[in-house]
Amino acid sequence: MRVDRNREDAVIAAVAKHLFIDGKWVDAADGATFDVADPATGAPLCSVADATPADGRAALDAAVAAQPDFAATPPRARADMLMGAFELLHERIDELALLMTLEMGKPLPDARGEISYAAEFLRHFAEEATRIDGGYQTAPGGGARFLITRQPVGPCLLITPWNFPMAMGTRKLGPAIAAGCTSVIKPAHQTPLSMLALIGILDEVGLPAGAVNCVTAMDSGAVMEPLIRSGAARKLSFTGSTRVGRLLLEQCAAEVLRTSLELGGNAPFLVFADADLDEAVEGALAAKMRNMGQACTAANRFYVHTSVIDEFARRLADRMAALPIGPGTRAGVAVGPLIDQAALTKVQALVDDAVGRGARVLTGGAPAGGAGYFYPPTVLTDVAPEARMTAEEIFGPVAALTAFESEDDAIAAANATEYGLVGYVFTNDLRRALRVAEALETGMVGLNQGVVSNPAAPFGGVKQSGLGREGGAVGIDEFLETKYIGVALP
Ligand code: NAP
Repeated sequence: MRVDRNREDAVIAAVAKHLFIDGKWVDAADGATFDVADPATGAPLCSVADATPADGRAALDAAVAAQPDFAATPPRARADMLMGAFELLHERIDELALLMTLEMGKPLPDARGEISYAAEFLRHFAEEATRIDGGYQTAPGGGARFLITRQPVGPCLLITPWNFPMAMGTRKLGPAIAAGCTSVIKPAHQTPLSMLALIGILDEVGLPAGAVNCVTAMDSGAVMEPLIRSGAARKLSFTGSTRVGRLLLEQCAAEVLRTSLELGGNAPFLVFADADLDEAVEGALAAKMRNMGQACTAANRFYVHTSVIDEFARRLADRMAALPIGPGTRAGVAVGPLIDQAALTKVQALVDDAVGRGARVLTGGAPAGGAGYFYPPTVLTDVAPEARMTAEEIFGPVAALTAFESEDDAIAAANATEYGLVGYVFTNDLRRALRVAEALETGMVGLNQGVVSNPAAPFGGVKQSGLGREGGAVGIDEFLETKYIGVALP
């Protein structure tokens, strides 16, 4: 049952469902559209423009044409636009959160949390825009000087996933705008509405025509590959799966396109015997259940010391079982639907595989059925190392527990993956905490905490979890080139 159907219709009606090219909202060249569905019901919400490759090219042409003037705007002017957008996101947080919940499924409080997190990237990079630095240096041999300056990379292609439909956009657009780069951004087909709302806000705060262009499309490859191979773009920044990231990296090689990749994760969550179990359970809930487990940072494998695994498993299962499930628009709901039927089918297949290899189900384990893509919070213990879910992202509300005996065993198990985004460590022993944090082959570590994302911190992975960092002091570097000018000074 919808809370307020009229309000829902109003927030959907308020979004422009077109492509945004050269400062104008336009239909696809062939007039095609595709449907956006509500994952809580499976029913269509509305339809948006389905870009053709020619539309993609028009968007990139606009970004290329706008690049020189945009690079020349005063940093303060770019900062002011970002701050204006930051303020509008907060002003409209209720409408934007409802829009996000409708297209993506996360409960309303989580959607509000994401809008606020997304806005924070705009503020962070507004501040960074005015601090782009350079250098002046005497050559070691004397007789010359080095002038070092930093310039925008140039027109960027930005591709974002469905799981954080607004924040993954601002995490790229914030630094691109701050650095003076123009862009073409493409959201995931499941969740274009939050991005279109964001683009509308950027237009409202006065971004010049062509500085940001947005294409929505069902066939992403057909629209984006020609742009990647065009030679007209200077950078690709992609957030999504490792599978698609690898494919795009290959495409980028032909033009030696500068590339930032934020890819999949398979986070280990280590609980040592000396951990505070209350803290560990809280951390586990945060690391597992954010976005119904559909986060690159989601704890995928729990390794718990043999002496505490039964107690930890019991407490976690009790907490997970008590989480209210339902449409994210309903008050009090903590667990919304998964994004689509394919996600639901995959989660169930991974659970069945683990159970077939001896895992025990402490809670959950099967979908409730009915409309929408709901999967109950699930805790499995005695998960075998060969289970598929130890190697693959579960991307659902399923905690997979395995016991370990020694610190070395825990580290070896944690690192036995091609991924390396984040790891979580729960222990009250300072030396162990630092030893294990240093030994984990990940870009980020949560030490006695289940959430690491923060716009002011460098987010990113090692191994096949990606290349480069977003956010933090280094986030803007991904959109800047360093230029050195040698000056003769006899
Ligand atoms: P995905 O299938 O890789 O898609 C990501 C984006 O790439 C979407 O916009 C998608 O558009 C587009 N895409 C797909 N195929 C493409 C192609 N051939 N050419 C150009 N674009 C293409 O990932 P997802 O299912 O949306 O997102 C979940 C994944 O993202 C997970 O693996 C998660 O771990 C990862 N993720 C990583 C981070 C991080 O910061 N490391 C953050 C969030 C999510 P369409 O689907 O509309 O075609």
